Amino acid sequence: MFVVDSVKLKPGHSEDELKFAAARKAGIGAGKISEIKILRKSIDARDRENVRLVYSLALSAVGANRRFPEYRESADRVAALVKNKLNKPLRVAVIGAGPAGLMAALTLQAGGINPVLIERGGDAEAREKAVNALKSQGVLNTECNVQYGMGGAGLFSDGKLNSGISREFFPAVFGELVSLGAPKDILYESHPHVGTDKLKDVVTNASARLRSGGTEIKTFSRLDDIEVSDGKIVGIALSTGERLAVDAVILAIGHSAFDTFRMLAAKGVLMEPKPFSVGVRIEHLQSFINEGRYGKFAAMLPPAEYKFSAKSASGRGVYTFCMCPGGEVIVSSSDPGTIVTNGMSYRARSGSNANAAILVSVTPSDFNGSLFGGFEFRSRIERAAFAAGGGRYGAPVQYLGDFIGMPVKNKLPPTVSPVGGECDLTTVLPRFVADGLKDAVAAFDLNLKGFMAPGSPLIGAETRSSCPVRILRGESGESSIGGIFPAGEGAGWAGGITSSAVDGVKAALKLMRKFGE
Ligand SMILES: Cc1cc2nc3c(=O)[nH]c(=O)nc-3n(C[C@H](O)[C@H](O)[C@H](O)COP(=O)(O)OP(=O)(O)OC[C@H]3O[C@@H](n4cnc5c(N)ncnc54)[C@H](O)[C@@H]3O)c2cc1C
Repeated sequence: MFVVDSVKLKPGHSEDELKFAAARKAGIGAGKISEIKILRKSIDARDRENVRLVYSLALSAVGANRRFPEYRESADRVAALVKNKLNKPLRVAVIGAGPAGLMAALTLQAGGINPVLIERGGDAEAREKAVNALKSQGVLNTECNVQYGMGGAGLFSDGKLNSGISREFFPAVFGELVSLGAPKDILYESHPHVGTDKLKDVVTNASARLRSGGTEIKTFSRLDDIEVSDGKIVGIALSTGERLAVDAVILAIGHSAFDTFRMLAAKGVLMEPKPFSVGVRIEHLQSFINEGRYGKFAAMLPPAEYKFSAKSASGRGVYTFCMCPGGEVIVSSSDPGTIVTNGMSYRARSGSNANAAILVSVTPSDFNGSLFGGFEFRSRIERAAFAAGGGRYGAPVQYLGDFIGMPVKNKLPPTVSPVGGECDLTTVLPRFVADGLKDAVAAFDLNLKGFMAPGSPLIGAETRSSCPVRILRGESGESSIGGIFPAGEGAGWAGGITSSAVDGVKAALKLMRKFGE
């Protein structure tokens, strides 16, 4: 097979049209093509009047022109990345069952190691119950919630898999997800998306595969302490009272567990403060976004996305983040007396509203560069949001018009549940964040006319887009304490589902390399 790129077609095209366009690009007759494999599909909507689907294709054809590159299959499962299986017993614990921890555990298993997987929250079903109790009764379970439990922070998400990192590991990671029940189109869509409903199946299937391969999964078990000897980890203590002897640990704890970061720092795991961002969620009607991005082509295309960035008057970076077409805003708190927002959607993305975070960059100098100043900074905002929402886990809302001083008409009802009272977001956010948001919405309106609709709800507070610290790791992938392999978003080296999953795979491969020597 050989590869042809930039095959462009109008939305709504047929399979035959794709074949003819591919043949034209390859300079051969369509009848000569015996197989077409879509390698990548994207939407070019730079010109709203002339939206095009753009394909990269692998073709099997008689008499193919040799000027086209040959198609090479990539590793399509994480097992294919494991060069040598480890043939000696090794006691490994993976802490955290988010994308990084799950992929690390699957990779270790493929490499002949059965780790014990330790997760402070419950399984997908227990989490669903806990999240529903928050939605309907305003009761937060601080150990089992949108951040904590099997699947990690990604379970109640949009399941967007786009990432800016190198694509090298994508075929193996996405192939693994497909083998666990994710939709096949994630293998070629340029903006792959799974949806929270499908993610639950993926996580349940991943747990079953790990268990049937011999991996023990301990849910509702929090890592509370580590035992170190001669600069290496030798044991872990869990909230259940259990103590386990270990040779190595993959630490994939996400960015919410401040208690665990504090414990690790006290034990000598070196980390440094890093920049992150805070802001709010904004909602619009999805039909408005579709029309604005795709014009007359909107009905022929999936719900539209957007991504904007700007500089505030004071020079801060402000950008939209984690846009969820046809989704809903979800209260994602894990600490008592706090409100944290995020967005999620189902596979169909059929909700009436679109939401996205608008975030302003924060640097360590905003909290005097202290190691845990970032955690405290975000926690102050989360507590203020809780108070502004009425103190019952209802997310506080302010209409954009009220925020920027424009008359508010046609208020769009927010999708978040529970919803708190209307508030003044300047009492929740630091001044520079509120000012940055005001500057940015005006700039974003230039990209999409009507973005600055006064009736758009702003919902606070969005504080957990990335980790406020980075755990230092050396060439071997270990932390300052030997045998600890930090991975994923909590380690501060990844952001989002895909890069965290890839980082989990890499941590497992590094661990195997170290102990295989
Ligand atoms: C509502 C929501 C929507 C999102 N939508 C998207 C999206 O569409 N696309 C995207 O790319 N990203 C999205 N994200 C972000 C994404 O989920 C994270 O980037 C990703 O999950 C990070 O993976 P991780 O494995 O590093 O950490 P996490 O997923 O945070 O997993 C860490 C796990 O460690 C466990 N843990 C923590 N401390 C301990 C301890 N002491 N002992 C035992 N277990 C512990 C936690 O319970 C958790 O399950 C979303 C996040 C949220 C909250």
